[in-house]
Amino acid sequence: MEGLWYTELQEPGVAISLETKTRLHAEQTDFQYLEVLDTKAYGRVLVLDGAIQTTVNDEFVYHEMITLVALNTHPNPENVLVVGGGDGGAIREIVKHPKVKKATLVEIDPAVINASKKYLPEISAGLNDPKAEVRIEDGIKHIADSKGKYDIIIVDSTDPVGPAVGLFEKTFYQGIFDALKDDGIFVAQTESPYLTAHLIKGVYKDVHSVFPITKLYLAYIPSYPGGMWSFTLGSKKYDPEAVDLKSIPETKTRYYTPQIHKAAFVLPVFVQELLKEALK
Ligand code: SAM
Repeated sequence: MEGLWYTELQEPGVAISLETKTRLHAEQTDFQYLEVLDTKAYGRVLVLDGAIQTTVNDEFVYHEMITLVALNTHPNPENVLVVGGGDGGAIREIVKHPKVKKATLVEIDPAVINASKKYLPEISAGLNDPKAEVRIEDGIKHIADSKGKYDIIIVDSTDPVGPAVGLFEKTFYQGIFDALKDDGIFVAQTESPYLTAHLIKGVYKDVHSVFPITKLYLAYIPSYPGGMWSFTLGSKKYDPEAVDLKSIPETKTRYYTPQIHKAAFVLPVFVQELLKEALK
């Protein structure tokens, strides 16, 4: 495969191409087409149904930002759930946090976990941590069966297609609200403000109708469509922007810092406008 290029058709009219050294794995699982590529610019890459999920070289941005903002907003994040996230990167960050006692992963597709353990050990390492519990289950069912249980729930999902469609619906956000304790926090990855503004608007409106505090924050992830990526946070009590930065525990990170925690909520005008439109 020397010199071959893998092209992800991202959104209508946009694609990203990676020069690929080799394709290490390909299989049709019960839920999706799974590939692991070895690329020149981003190292090993996990691809599901033709969409890049995570790359060894830039995954740290996504996994630190989807976890640490909520973990460092909650004063006592003991019991944390990740829905999706079978590569294990979010769990790796969660188990490192000094206050976390238990990190549960609910992933629908065991093949993603197996491939990540085999080909992406630096991302999946946290899945073997004694604080981690891995459950092969539909996240929608797990949320419906959980009441007042979690301090933090993170939805680290694929795009809203196939089994992930229900992870972007208002009834699911209401279920998450009910599955959280009285001071719980929810975070979901919500895609690109440039290319999928309609998705961000829909999620923001729905989360806002369920949670008293709703905030959107940004990070910069080169391998994702558009590069600028959004996360939507719903909180019952704690405002992520009101965190005393001095209270944030020192951990080894490559993107997140207390200052970035604050700065991530500073939004460009076009994103502010998008959120205003969402609530009209
Ligand atoms: N960071 C990634 C991104 O934004 O592209 C997402 C990573 S992770 C690999 C997404 C996972 O969500 C997939 O492994 C998929 O199997 C899982 N997933 C999709 N729908 C699900 C559901 N209903 N319940 C649990 N996991 C689900």
